[in-house]
Amino acid sequence: MTAAIIDGKAFAATLREKVAALVPAFEAAAGRRPGLTVVIVGEDAASQVYVRSKGKATEAAGMVSTTHRLPADTTQDDLLALIGTLNADPTVDGILVQLPLPKHIDEQVVIATIDPDKDVDGFHVVNVGRLGVGQEGFVPCTPLGCIMLLEDRLGDLSGLNAVVVGRSNIVGKPMAQLLLAKSCTVTIAHSRTQDLPGVCRRADILVAAVGRPEMIKGDWIKPGATVIDVGINRIDNRTDGGEGGTRLVGDVDFAEAVEVAGAITPVPGGVGPMTIAVLLRNTLVSAYRREGVALGK
Ligand code: NDP
Repeated sequence: MTAAIIDGKAFAATLREKVAALVPAFEAAAGRRPGLTVVIVGEDAASQVYVRSKGKATEAAGMVSTTHRLPADTTQDDLLALIGTLNADPTVDGILVQLPLPKHIDEQVVIATIDPDKDVDGFHVVNVGRLGVGQEGFVPCTPLGCIMLLEDRLGDLSGLNAVVVGRSNIVGKPMAQLLLAKSCTVTIAHSRTQDLPGVCRRADILVAAVGRPEMIKGDWIKPGATVIDVGINRIDNRTDGGEGGTRLVGDVDFAEAVEVAGAITPVPGGVGPMTIAVLLRNTLVSAYRREGVALGK
């Protein structure tokens, strides 16, 4: 039996529709639409693409999208001053500073300057702490999207063995916190983990957030496990005997895993589309919270 394919693209589309459907009620109550402001510094091509997609998706959901494009030589002080202005602007519900920033700017200082209640990326230490102690805050979009897909597939996650491969601040660690909050038994694996295949084989839920193309093989997966592949890796097609060009693959060897897993997210079309959908959801939640408007279901 091959694994069920978890259709993140369809789930994300539905989530975006749900967000859009809740915008008019907010506008009626608050007299304005929710607003997301994105700040990008420099010309990184991939970041430019992400920022454009975020802007388009925000507008498509009926929210106000504002983008500040700053030159690569912007000083840290100027960036912090802009964030201060956005913090004070009551029409801005979400502030997102696109990463990576140029080397002369300290990302941690920048993130720490964002008002935690507008930090829709969930990267501010206050939100990291809130997640750790179970307080209401903002949770990073990609891992929250993964939890939504898991609960949609499995229902109650309580008691399941979850293994997260990767311990980055933006994916691995918050993913582990979220799974723990859902009462999974959580193992976090990383580059120093011994017997990684053996650790992965214990997982009922296996989340791969490594950034290494097709590293996780079929025989690392417990039969019937649910596999969430966060990895987005662009590889040369020719390594597969193809005719050139590139293609996207995950951190999991999909062709092998699909024969063993119970369910799996594809790359592309799995976790990827969830990130922006959850960003819109976080922005809407921020707007409702900040205006004290009750959020319907
Ligand atoms: P990072 O590079 O920040 O972290 C990678 C993690 O993987 C580290 O904790 C590292 O361990 C671990 N790791 C690296 N090599 C190995 C190995 N051989 N065995 C075990 N663990 C290893 O990456 P991110 O968390 O930012 O991203 C992970 C992947 O997810 C990337 O492919 C990225 O493109 C993708 N991604 C996708 C998103 C989306 O779908 N929207 C959003 C964000 C990321 P150590 O800490 O020991 O170095």
